[in-house]
Amino acid sequence: MLYADIILPLPIPGTFTYAVPSEWKETVKTGMRAIVPFGSKRIYTGIIVSIHKNEPKHYEPKKILSLPDEEPILRAPQYRFWEWISEYYIAHPGEVYQAAVPSGFKLDQYKPKTEAYIRLSASLADENKLLQWMDKLLRAPKQLELLIRYLEISEFTKTKSIHPVPKKQLLGVKNRFSPSALNGLVDKGIFEIFQQEVGRLKESDLERENAYPLNASQQKAMQEIEKQFNDKQVVLLHGVTSSGKTEIYIHLIEKVLAEGKQVLYLAPEIALTAQLTTRLRRVFGNKLGVYHSKFSDAERVEIWNNVLHDESYEVILGVRSSVFLPFRKLGLIIVDEEHEPSFKQYDPAPRYHARNAAIVLASLHGAKTLLGTATPSIESYHNAKIGKYGLVELHERYEEMQLPEILVVDMKEAYRKKQYEGHFSDVLIEKINLALQQQEQVILFQNRRGYAPFVECKACAYVPKCKNCDVSLTLHAAANTLNCHYCGYVERLPQDCPSCKAPDLRTRGFGTEKIEEEIKQFFPDARVMRMDLDTTRSKKGYARIISAMERRQVDILIGTQMVTKGLDFEKVSLVGILNADNLLSFPDFRSYERAFQLMAQVSGRAGRKHKKGLVVIQTYSPDNSVIQQVVHHDYQAMFDLQIQERASFQYPPFYRMIQITLKHRDFKVIDQAANELAATLRTAFGSRVLGPAAPLIARVQNQYIRQILFKFETAASVKAARTTMLDILSKLNAQPEFKSVRISCDVDPY
Ligand code: ADP
Ligand code: ZN
Repeated sequence: MLYADIILPLPIPGTFTYAVPSEWKETVKTGMRAIVPFGSKRIYTGIIVSIHKNEPKHYEPKKILSLPDEEPILRAPQYRFWEWISEYYIAHPGEVYQAAVPSGFKLDQYKPKTEAYIRLSASLADENKLLQWMDKLLRAPKQLELLIRYLEISEFTKTKSIHPVPKKQLLGVKNRFSPSALNGLVDKGIFEIFQQEVGRLKESDLERENAYPLNASQQKAMQEIEKQFNDKQVVLLHGVTSSGKTEIYIHLIEKVLAEGKQVLYLAPEIALTAQLTTRLRRVFGNKLGVYHSKFSDAERVEIWNNVLHDESYEVILGVRSSVFLPFRKLGLIIVDEEHEPSFKQYDPAPRYHARNAAIVLASLHGAKTLLGTATPSIESYHNAKIGKYGLVELHERYEEMQLPEILVVDMKEAYRKKQYEGHFSDVLIEKINLALQQQEQVILFQNRRGYAPFVECKACAYVPKCKNCDVSLTLHAAANTLNCHYCGYVERLPQDCPSCKAPDLRTRGFGTEKIEEEIKQFFPDARVMRMDLDTTRSKKGYARIISAMERRQVDILIGTQMVTKGLDFEKVSLVGILNADNLLSFPDFRSYERAFQLMAQVSGRAGRKHKKGLVVIQTYSPDNSVIQQVVHHDYQAMFDLQIQERASFQYPPFYRMIQITLKHRDFKVIDQAANELAATLRTAFGSRVLGPAAPLIARVQNQYIRQILFKFETAASVKAARTTMLDILSKLNAQPEFKSVRISCDVDPY
């Protein structure tokens, strides 16, 4: 008797053993899906991860109900990658399976898309026979007309061979030709009708072109990268914005493809894939596959199958989940904008970091990883400095474009001297005016979406809060609603203060929508667009905004973080950062690193070709070290200061962190559980355990939250520590009073 160990798509530990019915004992393979019963009446689509003859000792295993695949949908290195993710990020195998495999694969929701085709019956390939029939059809002119149409479209007259034609095409727009005539021809045996599988993914019929030749410094960087790959698994390419990193990637990809291997190109955000797709498709045509969450499930299944079976997708451009695609033979992974926080998955588990996971994935394939950015993460730069990674630096921008000039506006002074209007200093308004006069484009960066972070009563200082979460609600002026950005709760904006009834609700702080409103007042003739979560929800949202910018249909683009990410617009001469302070005051050890990255990246959007750009930074703390480092384009100074702080305050890369989160509806239970857990962990790990603490937002969706932070030396044995820690966690959950406390772990949480 054969048995199969199967992963089920559930957040529970381990795999489950099922019996393989004898009719499938020849065909069953690991990596295939299996439909299995679970519990008393549930049925799941699992994945077979091992096949063996060890009969379970303590129970009678249930039987596999069905095996829907002819061939595995998972490859061996891929499953080893799942195991690594599951172990390192402390996630159940079922959670990894859920994240990795498109849900279209589960319970056979995916149906191949088919279309009806018409072809001439083989018996009519003989021209005499065909002419006889045409004679007979003189009495049925509609049928004759349709037959002649078929012969034309299918080019039978020219080629004398039978080619199928889609039914839709044959009948024409709105069935211009009669379907009953078609049926008549099918009945007579002249036509055959059949269903054929067609792809959902559009192939591009673009002419492929050669990659642009690299200039001297790009060539040198490329050679340097290749040289370092001789003895390093990972190389960091630190190249200023617009140095042409993407062009270097393209040349590297060409070389890897020539060796018959695949390339994964990871981009941090869907927003970026639009422009990158155009650039890569120009060179790689239909060898390029694109993979991200704005595709439908069915489309994602097709991309998956394409990577698995055909050899047509050789380059995959994707966001973080594309590390899970079933690559045949990876030769190179490129992680573009490697410093980007959006490579990290927060919820649900597995809470993986796609850059770090990519490095492991590459090593499973014997492939290399290239990290690229103008503003490396502290970790990656540190790894390069200590020789763990190779390092290649590129300091020149393409075509000797100059780095932008950076102007710092002291907002304290602007307010004192009344040199401002709304949220804009007179300086910024003047510079916008100038740019518009010269028909150049402007990008304004504001780190918050919505109209204003919150509404406050002028009379009693009451702030409307979410019913389910410990956060103030955000005003969305267009809809006139107050929204919770954590749980999605929405209410109408009240007329009067709900607490004291005074008609004095006013907005506090400011978001992208508010900036848009002010800009429209100051510059009524300017064409303004906004790019934030609210305007980019749909699949086409990003693409619409980006193409409007490219076609110069926008004068001023207002946006959140999204506008900072490697977008490349030719005519942007001015970038305004409206409030640098809310970047600096983030309660997180990475806030200075991130503030520098955001400001340096958004500055990189200014003045790309032929013209030096200008960046205006509005701030209340013009002397802050990070602001000064941005002004002087001095990454090195930022790194030197930050790496010292990381060492003295025990943060990554010198320490690893695991954040343990506890959730429960009852705040007494949560406090008891968190205190007890922290105390037990301390007996094992001493001062490496911090907390418990209530996070900034201490209640979400009616669940109270407590967190414990666990820091340990990077050099320490991670495995042993993790095992002990997990043991302590499960013992806590085993106590009856804490059974319903939900505990989750986040490894490398920031
Ligand atoms: P980065 O990725 O370093 O920010 P890009 O690759 O986006 O830089 O290059 C910036 C601009 O310069 C792009 O418009 C790109 O097409 C152009 N460019 C860079 N290198 C070349 C080259 N060798 N030949 C032609 N155009 C180039
Ligand atoms: Zn809420």
